[in-house]
Amino acid sequence: AAGAASLPPDVWAKVKDHPCYSEEAHHYFARMHVAVAPACNIQCNYCNRKFDCANESRPGVVSERLTPEEGARKVLAVAASVPQLSVLGIAGPGDACYDWVRTRATFALVARRLPDIRLCLSTNGLALPELVDEIVDMNIDHVTVTINMVDPEVGERIYPWIYHDHRRWTGRDASRILHERQMEGLERLTARGVLVKVNSVMIPGINDAHLVEVNRQVTARGAFLHNIMPLISDPAHGTAFGLAGQRGPTARELAAVQDRLEGGAKLMRHCRQCRADAVGLLGEDRGQDFTLDRLG
Ligand code: SF4
Ligand code: SF4
Repeated sequence: AAGAASLPPDVWAKVKDHPCYSEEAHHYFARMHVAVAPACNIQCNYCNRKFDCANESRPGVVSERLTPEEGARKVLAVAASVPQLSVLGIAGPGDACYDWVRTRATFALVARRLPDIRLCLSTNGLALPELVDEIVDMNIDHVTVTINMVDPEVGERIYPWIYHDHRRWTGRDASRILHERQMEGLERLTARGVLVKVNSVMIPGINDAHLVEVNRQVTARGAFLHNIMPLISDPAHGTAFGLAGQRGPTARELAAVQDRLEGGAKLMRHCRQCRADAVGLLGEDRGQDFTLDRLG
């Protein structure tokens, strides 16, 4: 992704040790996730609630679910033995913003003990707009928003329902509300100087051609990086799309879309779709070395 030469110093300072935001950093700095946020407020057709949020992770993965106190204990243990640890992310297994009470408690406990660790969260964006002030106050300077569409007509084929404002919404209304909230959250974050990465799950025949328009609109609203993730359709793990089976893109189709997007927001090409309890360098997962029963 970004290099030192092209960035203002304040932005470079936030990017240089974040393995997801800097291609160079991903060789030297480690991130970890703690799976403290199980609740989610929307239904994506590609999600099976038994597993981690597929907006940031591979499907079919079940993370160790922790309370904020357990999560913080795990972060301290990892920090003591992984010196390259620079980022703590909360990416589910549900939605970090909808499950804000647990997300906030975890970050607060960790920040008190490890003031230099960078805080990062991942969300579908529905609950994001009202949290922007708190996110900034807590020094969370990296947020990932999964944005799969900017047109509710496309969205209604991806999201059967959302839960918002104390009720369930379906059909085009659900996607219209989700879209408006995603754009509002993105604009508020970038206006406050938070670096925002947009993840889009590429779903052949549903939003593949539409991703060019997604890229245009998120770039216009200040997204720092755009990460196109292939849908990984895995019927064995119950992650087929909605009721009908839906294939994921081939490597060639994915590369073709990425090539069309060069020139908009910078593309991230080193994403590893890591689990909600991943530990280590990108592409490496030491999570099993740090399960709660091993921390003692
Ligand atoms: Fe599943 Fe994540 Fe979508 Fe929620 S936002 S339905 S956890 S994929
Ligand atoms: Fe943050 Fe996503 Fe990287 Fe985790 S994988 S550290 S949530 S950008």
